[in-house]
Amino acid sequence: MAPKPTYEELEQRVNALESTDIFELKQSRETLQKRAEELTALNALGRELVLTLSLEQTCVDGLRGMVSAVRPDLAFLFLRKGERLILQDVLPPLSRRRLSEVPEHRVGECLCGLVVKDNKPIFSMNIFDDSRCTWEECKKAGFKSFAALPLQSADETIGVIGLASENVRDFEQQAGFLETLASQIAVSLVNARLFDAVQKELAERKRAEASAHYERERFKTLLQHAPVGILSIDKAGIFTYANPKFTEIFGYDLTDVPDGRTWFRLAYPDPQYRKKVIADWIHDLKTHQPGEQRPRVLDVICKNGGKKVINFIPVSLETGEELVVCEDITERVTLEDQLQHAQKMEAIGILAGGVAHDFNNLLQGISGYAQLLMMDKNAGDPDVPRLKAIEKSVARAAQLVRQLLLFSRKEVVERRNVNLSQEMGQVVRILERTIPRMIDIEFQPGSRLWTVKADPAQIEQALLNLGINASDAMPEGGKLIIQTQNVVIDGNHARPHIGAPPGNYVLLTVSDTGCGMDKETLDHIFEPFFTTKGVGKGTGLGLASVYGIIKGHGGYIYCESSFEHGTTFKIFLPAIGHEGAEADSHPSETPPEGGTETILVVDDMPDIRQLASQMLQRFGYTVMTAASGEEALQLHVVRKEPIDLTILDLGMPGIGGNRCLKELLVFNPFAKILIASGYCGDDMVNNALESGAAGFIGKPYQLTELLSRVRSILGEPDHPPEDTGRA
Ligand code: ADP
Ligand code: MG
Repeated sequence: MAPKPTYEELEQRVNALESTDIFELKQSRETLQKRAEELTALNALGRELVLTLSLEQTCVDGLRGMVSAVRPDLAFLFLRKGERLILQDVLPPLSRRRLSEVPEHRVGECLCGLVVKDNKPIFSMNIFDDSRCTWEECKKAGFKSFAALPLQSADETIGVIGLASENVRDFEQQAGFLETLASQIAVSLVNARLFDAVQKELAERKRAEASAHYERERFKTLLQHAPVGILSIDKAGIFTYANPKFTEIFGYDLTDVPDGRTWFRLAYPDPQYRKKVIADWIHDLKTHQPGEQRPRVLDVICKNGGKKVINFIPVSLETGEELVVCEDITERVTLEDQLQHAQKMEAIGILAGGVAHDFNNLLQGISGYAQLLMMDKNAGDPDVPRLKAIEKSVARAAQLVRQLLLFSRKEVVERRNVNLSQEMGQVVRILERTIPRMIDIEFQPGSRLWTVKADPAQIEQALLNLGINASDAMPEGGKLIIQTQNVVIDGNHARPHIGAPPGNYVLLTVSDTGCGMDKETLDHIFEPFFTTKGVGKGTGLGLASVYGIIKGHGGYIYCESSFEHGTTFKIFLPAIGHEGAEADSHPSETPPEGGTETILVVDDMPDIRQLASQMLQRFGYTVMTAASGEEALQLHVVRKEPIDLTILDLGMPGIGGNRCLKELLVFNPFAKILIASGYCGDDMVNNALESGAAGFIGKPYQLTELLSRVRSILGEPDHPPEDTGRA
């Protein structure tokens, strides 16, 4: 226990206490408390502001912190925007109304404007006595004391906080504290602004990235689905991208062709061609600017070994890369070639037909007169063998002309319903007898073959020609395969074969294992007089007539061949019916026989008129002649007795044979008319037959042939044209 103080000690203590200034103590304590409060307020505001990132919220929070620390009657915050001061927030919120009359502040005007301009706080005990407060509207708001504190960033004043009191209040007393608060708010505002800018930039970057991504996706989709091949090559010649169509066209992908060097080697295996392609590429590169197209059409060997015709369109980019568009135009080029070929054949056909026509008339004369002379000779006459030699030559010449006419499709086709397997069987038997034994003939008739409308003699002729060619191509022996089968050509299949419309066809295939042909030969085989056989061996008319016959039947013929790899001919004939459609039987020959009827021979060629009338007269007929259609009509009209038969040439000047025929039938629907012509299109003869002609005979005709046709028509019962049943 402590001992009790002595009196002296107590007195000393009292004296010490008496010397202490109680008032000062009290004041110090108050100041201390205030400092503590201010620090607490600063701390609270700091904490609040640290958590706020948006500019707007920082204004609100800053002002609120200020109000709770200072408790003015009104507080507001302006931010500077150029020379304008924009009101951000007012507390308490209801007081905003009191500022409604105050116009927008400007830097340098009134108290707030001055603070921003000078970057110094202003404290005014009474604005009514303060000359710096220049705006009457501010005074009308009902406040007396005022403090304006600059919000200062590193290099500029970004705004101002205003505090107002309705009563007289000395804000300046707290100047230090207020300035500290304001500078804390200013720092936060600067941060918020920065954050805002960063946010904006981030958002902008995100948007740009998204749009770049979208662009990339769009571009990728475009590339993936492009109908053309697309390839990109970098500066070093490395293939950096190939779209799916590229691989679809060529078969190569980037592992097969990683770079230009490999591409050139694989796509152009022929060194000479490759050299040219590379030289062209380099030349084009030198002569074109970036962005300019450098199209070239090239033959490319694909991964599967097939050849394709490609339209390449390379373009250099500014970056030094290459973008190459590849369009497969193989089919288009093939079609164009085929069309061109067809047009060429058409032109040659017209030429050949014209020559054959004139030649035919000459042969008719030679043959006819030789036959007439022969009739006058006794069997032992020395002229007989000479005349026979003339006839033989004429027959050979007529055969040639016939082939030419077949080619030009001017030979009339007498069509019947035919089962090709039967006809082919006959030809195979002839071939077996005629071609060398080292050649093995294999006949594969298709079962339940559809019927075609055809002239069996012509089809047999065509097949014989093909068979003989095949035999010529296999001098050392080999195999000749003849097939018939039904095929349906659908829309897709028909495309490569120009003009062959979709439908049912009977396909006749003739293949051999012979020497084959190079492309050069293949391009010309159907042209008349084209032959690779020596003089006296080939006429070059075999395939020309096959071509004509097939075209004349509305069919299509294709040849596939390569050198030393055999040859295949494919003939498509349109099928008219299903299997089992009745094939017609062969017409029987009628032995020549004369008559006493009256016959009118109409022909513009005097020789032919004369010849025909002499022949017919010999066999008992009464013969009249006319040199034109007009004359023939005249004779029919003026003659009292009927003319039993008119032999009418179709190709004559004036009204011509066809009109003559029609008018004759109008005049006498029962008139019997035999059309005689060597040169006229199928259509013309078919028209004539449809119009009601009784029959047709091709020039040059044999005497016996003419007589038998005349006899058979005259023997038919009279009937009007409607029920002739001819087509
Ligand atoms: P020719 O037989 O009189 O030469 P073609 O018109 O029949 O005339 O044939 C024309 C040419 O087509 C022939 O000379 C031959 O070069 C070629 N050729 C036709 N068929 C074949 C075949 N099966 N194999 C090889 N070459 C053929
Ligand atoms: Mg031939």
